[in-house]
Amino acid sequence: MTTPTTDTAIDTATAGETGSGTDARVNLIGLTREALAEAMADIGEKPFRAKQLWHWMYYRGATDFAAMTDLSKTLRTKLEERFVVARPKAAREQTSTDGTRKWLFEFTDGQKAETVFIPDEDRGTVCISSQVGCTLTCRFCHTGTQRLVRNLTPAEIVGQFLAARDSYGEWPTPMDERRMLSNVVLMGMGEPLYNFDNVAAAMRIVMADDGIALSRRRITLSTSGVVPEIHRCGKELNVNLAISLHAPDDDTRNVIMPINKKYPLKELIQACRDYPGASNARRITFEYVMLKGLNDTPAHARALIKLVKGLPCKFNLIPFNPWPGTPYECSDADTIHTFAEIIWNAGLSAPIRTPRGRDILAACGQLKTDSEKLSARERRLQAEKAWAEKEAAV
Ligand code: SAH
Ligand code: SF4
Repeated sequence: MTTPTTDTAIDTATAGETGSGTDARVNLIGLTREALAEAMADIGEKPFRAKQLWHWMYYRGATDFAAMTDLSKTLRTKLEERFVVARPKAAREQTSTDGTRKWLFEFTDGQKAETVFIPDEDRGTVCISSQVGCTLTCRFCHTGTQRLVRNLTPAEIVGQFLAARDSYGEWPTPMDERRMLSNVVLMGMGEPLYNFDNVAAAMRIVMADDGIALSRRRITLSTSGVVPEIHRCGKELNVNLAISLHAPDDDTRNVIMPINKKYPLKELIQACRDYPGASNARRITFEYVMLKGLNDTPAHARALIKLVKGLPCKFNLIPFNPWPGTPYECSDADTIHTFAEIIWNAGLSAPIRTPRGRDILAACGQLKTDSEKLSARERRLQAEKAWAEKEAAV
């Protein structure tokens, strides 16, 4: 028997959530260690208080100062008057028949973004959003039809992970390898490398040893190919890198990913070759969405092999997930298998990804925040208008 899909619209704010936007207290989540120490100094407290708070917030998952029992009652009251430990509010939570869970999180200004948890046998991956909307206009991606509303803050980025852990009650941080929420992928809405400072600040919190303590090997940042920021990401964060490649030549890639006109394949592949730690033990992932008649022929597969020659990498073949109004179709199953086999025969790993959470629209490229009821034709027109507007603005 399969578990039925659950869908909960949540309208009551619970402890630790900030949804109203009326609370003037400062959220301690998302602050760097230094900023947290400064916040303590500002209220006349010693720096070690920051260490204690860090432990409560990121190791124990506390959202309430009252629970922080090694702080004096006076201090707890003082903290409560000035600060909160808050997560984004789950406006909606849906669980798929395959166990995938999706949240629509609402931030203090009312903006929303989606987060997905994908359980697997050997891991559990939290897919995090970095922006509300996206400035880019990849033609196969639903988020690409939405305008960029704003970057998410470090608190909102790390807050998605904390709220996902709350949802499964995974506190305190398990110190062995048997975590349920064991991996993070920055593959939700938005282009993480166009919000790198905030993404990096959030990931530093996620990686800190005395809190969530997730190894950088369990974090993957996915980018459409913002070349200068790839260099920065390697230098400053050095998490695993995934590239949304989707085409082996500039002509095809320019059409489906207009960012390629700015950073063409030659530069992108060079940035991958230069990425620190690119080795067989730590390969770069190339994501490749299978689009019927566009990028899926044996000739495309052979061109791909040539393109990445000598680069320690693996492919992830993603069957295209259609959305209403999309101009594309997914390649046929046989075509995808032939494609995978050609790459496999060249000695490169190329698994075909099974879409997860399809019944709750949680699969790659389907994340969205609008719920307007429009026909496919209206959506297509709306998408074309959005692409034209965004591209004119660049
Ligand atoms: N902006 C980043 C991360 C978010 S997109 C990036 O582009 O890499 C996450 C992944 O989903 C990307 O590889 C993206 O190309 C892919 N994707 C987008 N729309 C899709 C769709 N409709 N079907 C399948 N994969 C899609
Ligand atoms: Fe933005 Fe990534 Fe979608 Fe492209 S694929 S529009 S970069 S979210």
